[in-house]
Amino acid sequence: MSKPYPDYQLACGWNALLPERKPQPSLLGEHPADVIIIGAGWTGLACARRWQELAPDARVVVIDASEIGEGNPGRNSGFLLEVALAEDADPANISRMHECNRMIQEAMQSIAADVKAYGHPVDLERAGTYRAAVGPVGLKSLHNYKAFLEGADLPFRQLDRAELKLELGTEFYSAGLYSPHCYLAQPAQVMRALVSHLPGSVQLYENTPALSIKRAAGKWQVRTPNGGLHSPHLVLANNAFTRNLGVARSRLATVYTYAGLTARLSDKVLDSLGSNHNWGILPTHRLGSTLRRTADGRLLVRSVHDYGRERGGDKLRLALQDRLWRRFPQLAGTGFEHMWGGAVGITHNGAPVWGEIEPGLFASSGCNGGGTVKGTLLGGLLAELALGHEVPDIASLFGSASWMPPEPFRGIGFHAVSQLESWQGRQEL
Ligand SMILES: Cc1cc2nc3c(=O)[nH]c(=O)nc-3n(C[C@H](O)[C@H](O)[C@H](O)COP(=O)(O)OP(=O)(O)OC[C@H]3O[C@@H](n4cnc5c(N)ncnc54)[C@H](O)[C@@H]3O)c2cc1C
Repeated sequence: MSKPYPDYQLACGWNALLPERKPQPSLLGEHPADVIIIGAGWTGLACARRWQELAPDARVVVIDASEIGEGNPGRNSGFLLEVALAEDADPANISRMHECNRMIQEAMQSIAADVKAYGHPVDLERAGTYRAAVGPVGLKSLHNYKAFLEGADLPFRQLDRAELKLELGTEFYSAGLYSPHCYLAQPAQVMRALVSHLPGSVQLYENTPALSIKRAAGKWQVRTPNGGLHSPHLVLANNAFTRNLGVARSRLATVYTYAGLTARLSDKVLDSLGSNHNWGILPTHRLGSTLRRTADGRLLVRSVHDYGRERGGDKLRLALQDRLWRRFPQLAGTGFEHMWGGAVGITHNGAPVWGEIEPGLFASSGCNGGGTVKGTLLGGLLAELALGHEVPDIASLFGSASWMPPEPFRGIGFHAVSQLESWQGRQEL
């Protein structure tokens, strides 16, 4: 079986842009806890925070295999969506979507408040997001998203090719929608802000991977390289790697996707990039590319998917550059200052693995590529559930991860579907 924690080939580019940070020490020796949370990401930190609010005397222990900002939570493209994902959008079920949107907006407000309290400047702005399509497959999906926005009474602007060119400096897309309901962030910086806002009584151990979990004598026991923890409550907030600890294996899969970030571009190139100086474009196809222009004048492209294992090297660089240069021919020849990969927990139906899995064992995993704000929401609610509070019916609001066939059928199925979808949506890649 693959490692029970992420071990990336390439450093996180967002984190590399920040000043050095001294990590919290790793765990040594055996310790009891009232709750052990595996994963100090969006989900895990929200869970820890809420747990401590509801049970101020509890010994809340969070462990992470990596360091804050360097690990998976800081490796994303920095879209903090305030509304349900396009993939979740269901125009036929507007009242459910309204409730999901309301809860997600509340979670986003809590992130924004924590960042504000940080006391250091953080690149987090409610810049909105574009969704842009090239060919018929993308346009169909854009049409569905528009129906969802209209049905949910959410504001948006429609843009044609010329308008997109004026705002973003690319003629690549034939149509787009702009929605204000999204923050754009430097995610590693936001993670540093969120961790600094944890109550002092929450004990965080970095560089501390959970190697195995088991239940013995009525307690959950977690083994780490130099010690162990035991507690009546264990929360798995480690997203794709939940399955590598032996939980939800039939419902979760791991997919790697990658980002390339240029150095700050010259003023001449920046002048050619349209009137909007801080923007993000989400794809209309699930295997498509995400683009960002950062507030400090860089371009980021996020694209390419691999099932179960991370790739690196020149082939990846060429694939990411190709996607960037096709959209922005004025950048041809410009490479990346940073390039990195990250893991996404995928479920067959896009719904999360959420709730009490076994007595005392809780999980919130399966972000499906959009778990920054949703993870924050579901992590906080998991603490409420575990502490016996009444919580909304997550399965009926966000769905429940469905069964996937075991290997090798799952891998074969993934490759077949992604090849077919990549071909169908090839213009959007
Ligand atoms: C390139 C890329 C771009 C993305 N862009 C976006 C985006 O723009 N917006 C968005 O919403 N989502 C995006 N995603 C997905 C995003 O990363 C997730 O939605 C989000 O990070 C989920 O948060 P989480 O806290 O649930 O899990 P994670 O961020 O995966 O955090 C889990 C934590 O658990 C730790 N961990 C794992 N296993 C162990 C173990 N055994 N022991 C101890 N610790 C462990 C990890 O180190 C990690 O810190 C992107 C993902 C990638 C890879």
